[in-house]
Amino acid sequence: GMNGEGRIEMRRIVTAEEKPEVILEALQRPSQRSTEKIMAIVQPIIKDVREGGDKALLSYTHKFEKATSLTSPVLKAPFPESMMQLPQETIEAIDISFENIRKFHAAQAETKTLEVETMPGVVCSRFSRPIERVGLYVPGGTAVLPSTALMLGVPAMVAGCKKIVMASPPRADGKLTPEVVYVAHKVGAESIVLAGGAQAVAAMAYGTENVSKVDKILGPGNQFVTAAKMLVSNDTTAQVSIDMPAGPSEVLVIADATSNPAFVASDLLSQAEHGTDSQVVCITVGCSDKQIQGIEEELHNQAMALPRVEMVKGAISHSVLLVTATLEEAMDLSNAYAPEHLILHLASPITARDLVTNAGSVFCGQWTPESVGDYSAGVNHSLPTYGYAKQYSGVNLGSYVKFITSSHLTEQGLRNVGPAVMRLAQVEELEAHRRAVEMRLGVLDQRDGVG
Ligand code: NAD
Repeated sequence: GMNGEGRIEMRRIVTAEEKPEVILEALQRPSQRSTEKIMAIVQPIIKDVREGGDKALLSYTHKFEKATSLTSPVLKAPFPESMMQLPQETIEAIDISFENIRKFHAAQAETKTLEVETMPGVVCSRFSRPIERVGLYVPGGTAVLPSTALMLGVPAMVAGCKKIVMASPPRADGKLTPEVVYVAHKVGAESIVLAGGAQAVAAMAYGTENVSKVDKILGPGNQFVTAAKMLVSNDTTAQVSIDMPAGPSEVLVIADATSNPAFVASDLLSQAEHGTDSQVVCITVGCSDKQIQGIEEELHNQAMALPRVEMVKGAISHSVLLVTATLEEAMDLSNAYAPEHLILHLASPITARDLVTNAGSVFCGQWTPESVGDYSAGVNHSLPTYGYAKQYSGVNLGSYVKFITSSHLTEQGLRNVGPAVMRLAQVEELEAHRRAVEMRLGVLDQRDGVG
């Protein structure tokens, strides 16, 4: 909250002085708008696009993006050079980030077929294949997000997806930011859908005259985008999957007595500037009151100098600083919260990292601000929010492939495993299953003159 002097500060809780319920309550995410209300808005949009195709899609873009001059909802590759005119410094920054993201995701490839002989003559294998057609949602709205285009597009390219479709809402003049077009070009996208929100998701899920239908839709977005992704992935006639549920972005910073208060505050603020619904949590470990005051002072002073100070104020107003005594307690609280981003401003960040059980992505040590992972280090920034780090991974190469298993038995293999199969089939009263084995074993026995 803020006091009378308009000071930007986090609510401070000394954990040793509070009941566990109070601490857990302080770590609750701000409640989101009712999903029912959002679903009721999104459902008719999906139906319209599904039935009305390009024309319906375009009319929503005219309405929401005010891009009334737009006459076609899709831009097909090759994209004209004129649409990707960029300053040299921007091109270099995108190219460096692209290469780091490519390297890290290429290393995640499981190119070798996994093979295990479970019994003599019984060989089980597993191999991966790219998902053929993927739809990548790059949020638009007020922000320019080429980094999201990179984070979604590069792994799709590395995985070998045959068709990469990007979607992003155009500006009111009907154009896309040239950075996004440049990234789409670099990852080999087949097309860019010039639309946002539920209508873009529906177009990619069902396909239209000019929008290619995809098999999986990935990417963050506002509540309309998230609701649409959930609805289409539940419709068996769409046959489409999604990456994960998405909510407002969040960070949890753990700082010990060795941390630099200015660095700690800068990381809290780089999350807070995302929007008023952003979540920011700071946990101090064994810090003196003077050190904690240092963080609070830096937070206020740095915030006041930011262009997005109004966003920051909103985010900080529902954020919390927890004062703890031990690293174990801090890590327990962090794991219970399951932050999207976890920053370890600690003397031994790698030791602490070993204690992480729930987090989207971890940033280790004072020289690793979250910003490096948001853009250029090579790790992905499309991560589970809202506590979903307990069961979801962030976007990675595995998000763009599926695994196929195979089994291959020799005669001896069937002799070895056959009796177990027949017995279980009998237990389940599936007689055809049992006979499929019995018949073969009979053929082998007869040939070999047994029985
Ligand atoms: P967006 O692209 O997600 O949504 C824009 C679309 O919202 C519009 O095209 C319109 O179709 C739809 N919309 C807006 N108002 C509507 C209404 N009243 N009814 C129906 N549809 C409506 O862009 P945004 O709104 O600026 O949101 C961006 C979101 O993406 C933010 O929530 C941000 O936190 C998130 N984000 C997350 C990450 C991440 O990696 N976690 C990265 C970037 C952005």
